[in-house]
Amino acid sequence: MPNQMVIDTPTALIHGLGPQRSALLLQELGIATLGDLLHLFPFRYVDRTKFYLIREIEADLPYVQIKGKIIRTEVLGHNRSKRLVAQFTDGTGTIELVWFQGMKWVEKSLRLNHEIVVFGKPSLFNSKYSIPHPEIEEVAEVTAKLTNALQPVYPTTEKLKTKGLDSKGLVKVMRQIFSMIGPNDLQETLPENLLVQYQLIPRFLALKTMHFPPGPKELQAAEFRLKFEELFFVQLRLLMLKQLRMQQYKGFLFSKVGDHFNNFYNQHLPFPLTNAQKRVIREIRTDMGSGKQMNRLLQGDVGSGKTLVALMTMLIALDNGYQASLIAPTEILATQHFITLSQMLKETGVTIRLLTGSTKKSERTALHQALSTGTLDILIGTHAILEDEVIFQNLGLVVIDEQHRFGVAQRARLWKKNVQPPHVLIMSATPIPRTLAMTLYGDLEVSIIDELPAGRKPITTSHKYDSQRSAVFGFMREQIALGRQVYIVYPLIEESEKLDLKNLMDGYESISRAFPPPTYQISIVHGQMKAADKEFEMQRFIKRETQIMVATTVIEVGVNVPNASLMVIENAERFGLSQLHQLRGRVGRGADKSYCILMSSFKLSSDSKTRIETMVRTQDGFEIAEVDLKLRGPGELTGTQQSGAVEFKIADLAKDGQLVQLTRQCATQLLLEDPNLQKVQNRQVANHYQYLNQHKANWSRIS
Ligand code: ADP
Ligand code: MG
Repeated sequence: MPNQMVIDTPTALIHGLGPQRSALLLQELGIATLGDLLHLFPFRYVDRTKFYLIREIEADLPYVQIKGKIIRTEVLGHNRSKRLVAQFTDGTGTIELVWFQGMKWVEKSLRLNHEIVVFGKPSLFNSKYSIPHPEIEEVAEVTAKLTNALQPVYPTTEKLKTKGLDSKGLVKVMRQIFSMIGPNDLQETLPENLLVQYQLIPRFLALKTMHFPPGPKELQAAEFRLKFEELFFVQLRLLMLKQLRMQQYKGFLFSKVGDHFNNFYNQHLPFPLTNAQKRVIREIRTDMGSGKQMNRLLQGDVGSGKTLVALMTMLIALDNGYQASLIAPTEILATQHFITLSQMLKETGVTIRLLTGSTKKSERTALHQALSTGTLDILIGTHAILEDEVIFQNLGLVVIDEQHRFGVAQRARLWKKNVQPPHVLIMSATPIPRTLAMTLYGDLEVSIIDELPAGRKPITTSHKYDSQRSAVFGFMREQIALGRQVYIVYPLIEESEKLDLKNLMDGYESISRAFPPPTYQISIVHGQMKAADKEFEMQRFIKRETQIMVATTVIEVGVNVPNASLMVIENAERFGLSQLHQLRGRVGRGADKSYCILMSSFKLSSDSKTRIETMVRTQDGFEIAEVDLKLRGPGELTGTQQSGAVEFKIADLAKDGQLVQLTRQCATQLLLEDPNLQKVQNRQVANHYQYLNQHKANWSRIS
């Protein structure tokens, strides 16, 4: 394939790069070939046709370009704060241009009262706008460039900059590359029908446009085409994996719903199922009755009732003569599940046991025995269940609570627990936007519980500034007078652990002063305490001996005190959205109306503002997850930045949700018509798929 050879040209052979800079490109950006360079896309473009007026400047603008004059310069400050300040005006206002370095040289080069163009990022300092280290150009210079208005800004590093590979240097490299290659050097990757149907521009043109955009319209078309390609091949990969799994593994056929399920449903159901629960149980039933192995992700917010769905799914397994198992990530959670489920199954005759790391040896032996002879129906436990000596007589279904701690290797061990892999239901309490789930868990089916059980009272959430603290204390007193309990949560973030601890202790002191004994009793729990002390303090709160619990985020998981109806979160601006959502979930568990108060200082970044406003506006975990995705990006949101599963060159899962769905449909359709990519019209797709398989180490981790 001669075409691919051009793409594979080592960067060292590109004129003007040479071995040293090539080595640096590899080291700094992982770029080894001409093809890699082609896919180093600008992260933004600077529109040099647009001039701002000084009075239009606002915070958060990435850059501005202004035409005007310098009217005065002066050197201010001493030693490290010494700086050159130039007053710059365009008739609509004045801003300061500031230099901290090269002051002498800069001062000499500035001409007063002479029209120039300045360019840079405005920042707000002492309620005045200034531009540190602006670029300065003559008006004539800028107007000469207006034909090529969109200038690319490339991602680069300090080291690369010192070797001349700053953004401008990279533009030169790109120019060199496009003098070496033409349309025939880059194979098309997408099938003709998709190019036509979605009006996708040719691949070469798209890449060239990314680096040298004639205008915004063209750029948009290029981005669309390249995003389409990227997402299409990821979806194709996921679907191929799924297809392979389906071909390789038959699934146990759960053909019927029998006595276990029906008895429970008719006689022991503790409350009517929500419509969402009914729907997902139907989806699961259909799946397990298809003769194919089920791999399904069950998503539902905290408290949406996933456990009950898990139980009813397990009962279907029993009805078909199989055993079932539920695996939880921690002993505490496993035990909690065991207690809940045993309670629900009390009068049904179904046998259920618990296996964790601390199960005693004698008990373990009996349990193994019961499991392998089939007298035990359901086994609840931790990863201990995966040990080789845990042998089931006939395992048909495994439910996994909290997927993200469950690796590929562990999945493999699970699949060996029977002659063919059991059905798998993965439950996740972290709401993930659907399009993200489609990619992260792209080879899984997804069921969503999007409805909370009836009767849950909404939690009223408000935002208060530190200056309103006495009013907040007043509200706390009211709640406590009604017999309720209160959480006050402080952030504890590792980098500033000492400072945070001090904040917590200071807060505790001021709360102790405002809520003195004997009327008030206060518990305190933080990460530096011994486990026994923590437990003691928790118990005092649970037993209602204390009315206020001052804590760090340790209470995020697993605490259940239904009488607590008020949560005050200090420094709310420092918490992430999902963390705030989890924290708030600690109240609203009882019969009383519940409240959450987010405290913050006046100074808020725009991200913090968005987070707080979102919390005040909604309690919907999925909506919150969508906002979180937009703010933080997919990698951080899911803790998968290391895995490569969501690393994209150009697509952005936070913004390109619709395109994810579209490309998935296209890939599905293509595989329907040509499952093994053998048709002539799909040769380009097959070639590129193979190419990606060989070159993308990341791909092996998508599954
Ligand atoms: P999660 O989805 O977070 O695992 P759980 O399964 O623990 O949620 O359910 C949360 C609470 O809601 C439990 O106390 C459970 O008994 C209750 N619950 C579950 N389903 C319903 C329902 N259909 N109606 C009323 N309460 C329900
Ligand atoms: Mg749960």
